[in-house]
Amino acid sequence: MLKQRGHDADCFITGEEPEFEKTVQDWQPDVVGVYSTTGQETWALEHVLAWRKELPHLKVVMGGPHASFDAEILREGEYVDAIVKAEAEHAIIDLVEAWAAGRPINLIPNIGFLDNGEPVQNLIRPAVQDLDSLPFPDVDLFYKYPFLRKKRVMQVHASRGCQNSCTYCSVGLMKEEWVSGKGDKFNRTKSVDYLCEEMNDIVARYPGFRMVNFGDAALNMQRGWLEEFADKWPKQVGMPFACNININFLNEEDIINLKRAGCVSVQFGLESGNEDVRLRVYKKGYTDKIVYSIPKLLRKHNISFRTNNIMGSPAETLDDMYQTVRQNREIKPAGCTVLIYRPFRSSALGREDFEVGRVELGKDIGPSIHSDSQMRRDDLDEVINLQRLFNIAVFVPGGLPLVKQLVRMPRNPLFDGVGLGFLWYQHAVVSGFGMLDDIKLGVKNLSQIFGRKSGGTHEYGRTRLIDTMDVGTDATI
Ligand code: SF4
Repeated sequence: MLKQRGHDADCFITGEEPEFEKTVQDWQPDVVGVYSTTGQETWALEHVLAWRKELPHLKVVMGGPHASFDAEILREGEYVDAIVKAEAEHAIIDLVEAWAAGRPINLIPNIGFLDNGEPVQNLIRPAVQDLDSLPFPDVDLFYKYPFLRKKRVMQVHASRGCQNSCTYCSVGLMKEEWVSGKGDKFNRTKSVDYLCEEMNDIVARYPGFRMVNFGDAALNMQRGWLEEFADKWPKQVGMPFACNININFLNEEDIINLKRAGCVSVQFGLESGNEDVRLRVYKKGYTDKIVYSIPKLLRKHNISFRTNNIMGSPAETLDDMYQTVRQNREIKPAGCTVLIYRPFRSSALGREDFEVGRVELGKDIGPSIHSDSQMRRDDLDEVINLQRLFNIAVFVPGGLPLVKQLVRMPRNPLFDGVGLGFLWYQHAVVSGFGMLDDIKLGVKNLSQIFGRKSGGTHEYGRTRLIDTMDVGTDATI
């Protein structure tokens, strides 16, 4: 969007730039943009402070889910000059051009700023309704780095939004705050023709990719779309793919269309084996009947599937989490991603956690959702141990009784290692690097993991390897 308006734009990845700070500084930016999710909002602080010394005119803007739901970051005045709430395509142009012209920014929709020491969040404009009206994502910014363009699996998005509004996820509040109620849609899909054209544009320049991983919340967002996609994708692009699905909106016809289009693997969030927690607390919409029936249909049509699972939410006892293990054992996924519950301020359940005092406020758990929990609970060590050993409990014969005994032990590096081993395997497969290349990537990034002195409120120097391997909900294949 910025380039279309004649501005220069670039992207720098810390782990890929031997001298990250200097490289950015030498590029002489007028504005730096920082993406943020909760827990990862302060990593750039030390860099920004260094750049400000050399580039006195520098402005810093933060976007992403954290900034969209918590304007408090603006109080760190020397760090962030403005935030953007919700989708930033048009807001960033208005903001950058106002700064360039020396105009005030306080009337720009979506923008948040500090006024007399208090954060102010402007109203937001309607979300972009026609995704085809946007330019193709500027993948060259990322694929200039060999480690990204050498991946065999490409990340692409076909849509924005989600049919569900799970209470542990930001989507529910986004739906409340990002649409006006005057007919604008939150769930939007690119046209199939646009998507195929976008893909072919990428593949023409980066022919090494062998597979696509759709990062959308669910590729089955629109039934008619999926049918057209199945007709056109194999002819126009013809690349196998993996994707996320919402199984409460999936029927056999959709599965047939997914297969026809070239889908080899899907992922869905099982999250809890306790139906009551899944339906009543998480508002996930997946009944046990759906959880047991969809895997059978997927298997019938030869599509493999993986599950996402949450450990340690305030809604669950340890027994509920063992039920999640049992349900996975019954439906037999190809793999399980197991994340530790985090109380996001951008989610309904997270807000409730803060309101009723379920969160250990002073506890810094770092950026990862694989590492530790901020929740107050007496069985915390058992929960963390179960997250580490979950895949053993699911996939090893007799694994559950064994794991039930093991989780009583104190947390220890061996369990961390087991968790890391499964993460490594997952990341290697999902990223498309392969196991060996993934090890090389990890080794290359060791200085990122152990070498940094500080990342704002998080002491990165103490971050363990497991903290950094965050495949999250992108883990699909
Ligand atoms: S967790 Fe997944 S299914 Fe639920 S609202 Fe968020 S994106 Fe949608």
